[in-house]
Amino acid sequence: MKLTHEIIAVHTKHAFTIARGGASEWRLVTVRVTDSDGASGWGEAAPSRFYGETADTVVAILGQLAPVLERADPWSLETIEAELARVVRFNGSARSAVSAALHDLAAKRLGVPLYKMWGLDPKSAPLSSFTIGIGSETELRQKVKEAEQYPILKVKLGTDRDEEIVRVIREEAPDKILRVDANAAWNPKLAVRTIERLMDYDIEFVEQPLPPHDVEGLRFVRERSPLPIIADESCLVASDIPKLEGAVDGINIKLSKCGGLREAQKMVSTARAHGMLVMMGCMIETSLGISAAAHISPLLDYADLDGSALLADDPYKGANIDDGKIFIPTGPGLGVEKG
Ligand code: MG
Repeated sequence: MKLTHEIIAVHTKHAFTIARGGASEWRLVTVRVTDSDGASGWGEAAPSRFYGETADTVVAILGQLAPVLERADPWSLETIEAELARVVRFNGSARSAVSAALHDLAAKRLGVPLYKMWGLDPKSAPLSSFTIGIGSETELRQKVKEAEQYPILKVKLGTDRDEEIVRVIREEAPDKILRVDANAAWNPKLAVRTIERLMDYDIEFVEQPLPPHDVEGLRFVRERSPLPIIADESCLVASDIPKLEGAVDGINIKLSKCGGLREAQKMVSTARAHGMLVMMGCMIETSLGISAAAHISPLLDYADLDGSALLADDPYKGANIDDGKIFIPTGPGLGVEKG
């Protein structure tokens, strides 16, 4: 198989800001694998600087991954994904793009959508949240109005006015389910204090209150928090999960953190074995990237697959989250087409 790629730029409807900063233009990499008979599959890398990746590092890493595919059996998905992880550590978004493309190709050859190849029931998928990034009060109110169709909002926190943000959003959306994500911005005591204040606003759970490596801090917060705690930045791959038992209630899987669709499924199983809740999130991605995650969504408790819904210029047609309901494409493979 041959590996080709194209860098694309997409734009969010609003500048998208979290505790670490924001942007409105995002560079992604569309990856294609083509077999000797011309059959092909595709996937997307949505690199995050926080995890050491950019579109340029993805392209460089694809050059290192290509030789694995040249000699591989396209059906040996497990072997290939393990081999890709041996060739490069980290670089999760580059590897997950290749993994998605290989799964797309395999399911296309079988003539079934990927969820069917995996034996999953699309009706089991939870609703997806829609993310409200950090902004001024006027911006927050505007964003909540624009998100009217979504029954669950995920609110980005990690500012010096977190309670005010939640108060404004709760005012605009009195009946919606609200979740909050501090993106690692709090310390243990601040987290406990903030969660206490947020109890007046009917919050469903709290994502990543503390810096990634502060597992003992997470345990401290969880012991004092009436709300479930979900690990995101603290949990990249399945082997991160055992040490988080008792420190968090659940994990947030992302393909660009874990490096592939098979590792994502291992994370689901590992989390279940430790009695944890399972959520899946995303980066700013087009519907090509979101579709790869959507096919796994029947395995989840919570979904946050709004990456393409935040875009003004999604170049593809695939999974979407109309009214929060995850539509998993029913065409062969990932079921994604050019828009
Ligand atoms: Mg998060």
